[in-house]
Amino acid sequence: MKPTRLVLLLLLSLSAAAAPKIQAQEPGRSDAVTVLPVNEETVAETRRLITERPVEKRRVEYLDRGLVCAAAPDGVFCSWRLLGTEPYETKFYLYRDGVKVSEEPIAATNYLDAQGTADSEYYVEAMAPNGKTSVSKSARPLAKPYLEIKTERPADWKNDRDPKSRPMRYQLGNMSAADLDGDGAYEIVAIWESNPKDNAHDGFSAPVRLAAYKLTGERLWELDLGVNIRAGAHYNPFLVYDFDLDGKAEIMMKTAPGSKDAAGKFVSEASRDPEIRAADNNADLRNATGRVLSGPEFLTVFSGATGEALDSARYLPARGDSLKRDWGDDYGNRVDRFLAAVAVLDGERPSGVFARGYYTKTALTAYVFKDGALKVQAAFDSDDRSQPENFAYRGRGNHGLTVADVDYDGKDEIIYGASLFDDDLSGVYPHAPGYPKLFHGDAQHVGDLVPDRPGLEIFSVHESGEAAFDMRDARTGELLWFLPFQGRDVGRGASDDVDPRTPGAESWAAGRFVTAAGEERPSPRMPVNFFCYWDGDLGRELQDGISIHKYNPETNRADVIFKADGCVSYGGTKATPFLNADLFGDWREETVYALADGSGFRVYTTTVPTRYRIPTLMHNPEYRLAVAWQNVGYNQPPHLDYALGFGVEEIPRPNVFAVAPNGDRLESGDDPARPISLE
Ligand code: CA
Ligand code: CA
Ligand code: CA
Ligand code: CA
Ligand code: CA
Repeated sequence: MKPTRLVLLLLLSLSAAAAPKIQAQEPGRSDAVTVLPVNEETVAETRRLITERPVEKRRVEYLDRGLVCAAAPDGVFCSWRLLGTEPYETKFYLYRDGVKVSEEPIAATNYLDAQGTADSEYYVEAMAPNGKTSVSKSARPLAKPYLEIKTERPADWKNDRDPKSRPMRYQLGNMSAADLDGDGAYEIVAIWESNPKDNAHDGFSAPVRLAAYKLTGERLWELDLGVNIRAGAHYNPFLVYDFDLDGKAEIMMKTAPGSKDAAGKFVSEASRDPEIRAADNNADLRNATGRVLSGPEFLTVFSGATGEALDSARYLPARGDSLKRDWGDDYGNRVDRFLAAVAVLDGERPSGVFARGYYTKTALTAYVFKDGALKVQAAFDSDDRSQPENFAYRGRGNHGLTVADVDYDGKDEIIYGASLFDDDLSGVYPHAPGYPKLFHGDAQHVGDLVPDRPGLEIFSVHESGEAAFDMRDARTGELLWFLPFQGRDVGRGASDDVDPRTPGAESWAAGRFVTAAGEERPSPRMPVNFFCYWDGDLGRELQDGISIHKYNPETNRADVIFKADGCVSYGGTKATPFLNADLFGDWREETVYALADGSGFRVYTTTVPTRYRIPTLMHNPEYRLAVAWQNVGYNQPPHLDYALGFGVEEIPRPNVFAVAPNGDRLESGDDPARPISLE
């Protein structure tokens, strides 16, 4: 954000102060959802920012056609990608055994081939409006609608600090996806963990391991973070992304003395910092409760292709010298609450943003990885005494975060629970006057949730403060509607378009169900965990455990439409998939689950036909970055930065480019100002 704009926003926040301010409510006094008057100034300003947004294209990943074919009840179902970097009007021929399956080109990005058999071999020929053609790799039908990747479980681990300990068995944990080897197809990076711990609990966890798999089943590498990295939802966020823009993704992750790369070398040895290179890699930094509350902390970049450490830097934000004073407890509950995200802070180069704390002190550091070296780019510290307004940012963060360009200047902001950090990591709100008292919560959803209002919105739940849950303007933080705090923690909440009767996202939490306009509906029994684009319509399906559900407005309930039999979900009571993302095939999302017998994992893909042509969701900047932070904290589903849902007739045209392995710049040539018509 330019300084002039910052001043403008500040003025706006000041002028808007009267409107968004909510009346202090005593818990339980009002149990109705309160809708606030629309602040026309904010709406007009957001509209102006959108109109005047920069024309520069955002760089996205180079991706191949992603053709996938699977046996379906009535033949073979094939689907493939429409890229954000090719003309939207591109059409396709599908070939079975070298012969076109249809005379006419196919406008959709999927086809149910009634004549297909298990032995058929398919490829897709794309035909751009200018007549240019390209041919995909060929694919044979999967027998079942999933890829199954068999894994080798790391050997059981016995706690060397407790002679009575039983061997700990490793399980697959969080996963992420990126193109590690630059061939245009995604790979999966997975955590292996045993006895992972919430920060609130004592105990020893097995050393965290990280492994990378090709979707063809081949394991690329595995590495061991050693005893000085504790395992758990809040300890091990990892970022898989092409940080140095060489076409292959890297991994950025917190490491420690004793952490090794895939070649078996200590990560400290890859550092340019002599102090880190001198680290004692035999040091056991665990205390009697299994926590690591002292000693060096590193941030390491690993090559995605080989798992080798490329550089290690000091991990910032640092824990500081007094846990009690800085974080509010001395046993390590609040200090080791880590979040991480990829954000394109300068509009061009992805940064790794690493955060520490959200119950009390809140600190963020952004790193870039350039020319083989990690470099600190920007930082924020709520307790920086030279910046007294930063103090307002204590205690606002969630067990997760979101990245989006909420002010449409081509540079990303970090939505950190109830606060917003600008592209230089300076705070935008809540330090501005008039901002409501909103604090930590477990879940948030950010997207164009209220489509008839310009810009992005945030739906969030809270543990304390003035609102139990709320819908806010993402750019200014102003409340649009909220349920006054009812005296108890609202732990879960979800928001997306599941009901065709009302436009935009429905939101549900605390047994309440609210339309995008803030109108309450009788509350259905709904899963509140996750979302998936799975069937043929534009609405989003719900996901809980190993099941995908569809909301039925007639019966006001969600029905199971898919089940990943033989699999397990992740995160205990959180019961999420291991990863949801548009990994291949058409725009619907693949969902990843570990096999219940521990022998590997499956990547499920839908075989439900759809007539809608949507560019791959991975070429949408907010969505792609959400896949990168999906493993962080309590996993949350990704959202697009535009409204996709029932009755949506137009979506924005991607304004992106990619760089092919041969160095060619790929872009659609379409006019980004002209929306895509879905009719
Ligand atoms: Ca690849
Ligand atoms: Ca790279
Ligand atoms: Ca921005
Ligand atoms: Ca909106
Ligand atoms: Ca759907």
